[in-house]
Amino acid sequence: MKRFAIGVDLGGTNLRIAAIDESGQLLEKVSIAVGTLAHREAVIEELCRAVRTLSASHAARGPFAGVGVGVPGILYVESGTLRKSPNLPGWENFAVRDAIVSRLKVNVVLDNDANAAALGEKWLGAGRDVSSLCLLTLGTGVGGGLVLDGKIWRGFLGMAGEVGHIPVAENGVRCGCGSLGCLETEASATAVVRKAKELMATGASRPLIEATKDDSPLTAHLVYQTAQGGDAACRKMAAHHVDAQQSILLRRRRSHRGRLFGSRCQRLFAQHMAARPQRGDRLIGMGHGG
Ligand SMILES: [Zn+2]
Repeated sequence: MKRFAIGVDLGGTNLRIAAIDESGQLLEKVSIAVGTLAHREAVIEELCRAVRTLSASHAARGPFAGVGVGVPGILYVESGTLRKSPNLPGWENFAVRDAIVSRLKVNVVLDNDANAAALGEKWLGAGRDVSSLCLLTLGTGVGGGLVLDGKIWRGFLGMAGEVGHIPVAENGVRCGCGSLGCLETEASATAVVRKAKELMATGASRPLIEATKDDSPLTAHLVYQTAQGGDAACRKMAAHHVDAQQSILLRRRRSHRGRLFGSRCQRLFAQHMAARPQRGDRLIGMGHGG
């Protein structure tokens, strides 16, 4: 019998929870909207309820190894305490692991969500045939994870992979972390929406104005679609968005190009490598978590 475990992606709006066996086989996954829950304790309660349900329904498969939780923020990994998270206001210095262990009485491991994603890609995904990689997660914020020689590299204070908070914009806007002009304020989906609003306020991008005039939500995906449709203003903005991410790099044998800006990413990747790219150095797209 194979052991199985449960992985939790703890986000500000959704909990995504999956049961997985030790060979990496996905057994079941669920998503729970928690954006309306006012307090972190209520979110933890929902999380534990879902873990109990999933672990009970797969108990016949084998021993339950425990729970791994990815959180969007800076944490004390050893104590399982979240230090700071722009996307989880009110969770500062909250002992997340203890809160879960006290309810479930099982083994719980906590890590930064991008670190967990990087390890997942290294284990079973796009990075499985390389020893070292850097992964960026682009969503509400910009997360980052570094895997060096097969292990997560945490560095000083555990922030080595937090590339989202490297200042990249002179005279940039205030980031959720308190700093100015972070990569996250230029390259996240939130940044795309903010810039699109500024664009629309000038009267540019008629297609975007048309697409949102019946109160349809303005999303980064809509901006991307509008750029794909040929709108010059959106294409220019999306190209800037790609430029802001030029620190992305990943080593892999085969490449997968994005549909719209893949070649631009590849060119920037080659331009900004400190050393000339070698055979096998590639920038690849890794899809998204669903
Ligand atoms: Zn920041």
